Amino acid sequence: MRDTDLYRTILGLTPPWEVVDVELDVKGEQVVVRVDAGLGPFSCPECQAQVPGYDRKPRRWRHLDTCQFTTWIEAEVPRVQCPAHGVKQIRVPWAEPGSQFTALFERLAIDLLREGSVTGAAELLRITWDEAWGIKARAVARGLARRTQEAVPHLGVDEKAIAKRHRYATIVADLAQGRVLYVADDRKRESLDGFWPTLTPAQREGIQAIAMDMWEPYIQSTRAHVEGAEDKIVFDKFHVTKHVHDAVDRVRRAEHRALKQADDDRLTGTKVPLAHAPPGHDPRATGHLPSPSVQRPQGGPGLGAQGALPPVLGVPVPRGRPEVLRPVVLAGHPQPAHADGRGGQADPAPLSECPDLPPPRDH
Ligand SMILES: [Zn+2]
Repeated sequence: MRDTDLYRTILGLTPPWEVVDVELDVKGEQVVVRVDAGLGPFSCPECQAQVPGYDRKPRRWRHLDTCQFTTWIEAEVPRVQCPAHGVKQIRVPWAEPGSQFTALFERLAIDLLREGSVTGAAELLRITWDEAWGIKARAVARGLARRTQEAVPHLGVDEKAIAKRHRYATIVADLAQGRVLYVADDRKRESLDGFWPTLTPAQREGIQAIAMDMWEPYIQSTRAHVEGAEDKIVFDKFHVTKHVHDAVDRVRRAEHRALKQADDDRLTGTKVPLAHAPPGHDPRATGHLPSPSVQRPQGGPGLGAQGALPPVLGVPVPRGRPEVLRPVVLAGHPQPAHADGRGGQADPAPLSECPDLPPPRDH
């Protein structure tokens, strides 16, 4: 087999493209494969009509190495003059328009980029960091273009602290497929506003649930862009549980203050046993909690008829476990859409004075 036939075969060239020359540079450790498209006519890249050639432009692409030899494809690529679309460069079958690399080289690069850093992939491929980044960006663009028709019924919106909490990013994920759909700077309403236009109208209508923190900017953005957002927003279990525990502790403190005025210190030391009692557990059984005969100040709400949390909410606050990220769908129990005012412990106050808490419910 001649070397030109060998490279025509391994490059998968189809007419009109032919390998016309193979140059082996042993000292420079490279192979240059020259290909040519003949005299035409050629296909217009826009309408595929057969149209005459206009002129040619020299182009060069990096291909997979031939053993340890860097391999290049060179061609004088014809430009055509289409009556409908003007002067256009024809498409080459081995590379994407505008890329300096063949599709096979880009595929190898993407495999390496998925395994490691841009810097590491660039070193292994002997290309620049910018070139490796360009390959990655094109791969992302292709993936985004493919994604426009897929339904995304269950979304997750969350913030991610960057650089020791001085900066934030907003991340939107497709919870069903476990993939990131969108990333934006900061955690403002505008950060999430940019996501919605990336969905088609059909995708937006197909949203069934959006899991998020009780973070007002995200709630506002979702309300403004998703029809029926009130019924689709799902607050994550961590924050719901945190609010319940905060509420219980505020009531405990208020009652403790009232009892102490009468020299009654029965609630001293009850914070931890109350907060960490497992579902269905009665802290009074271990002697940690007094009987519910405590006189409540100003008739405010207490801990429930049984002196404990309703079982559905009486779960310990999870501490960094993966399951805290799973959404809890509060179907039929719309939650108030208020920010939780993160960062800092609020002063103890009676439950009735906490507008960001839902009223007690019977479960
Ligand atoms: Zn055309």
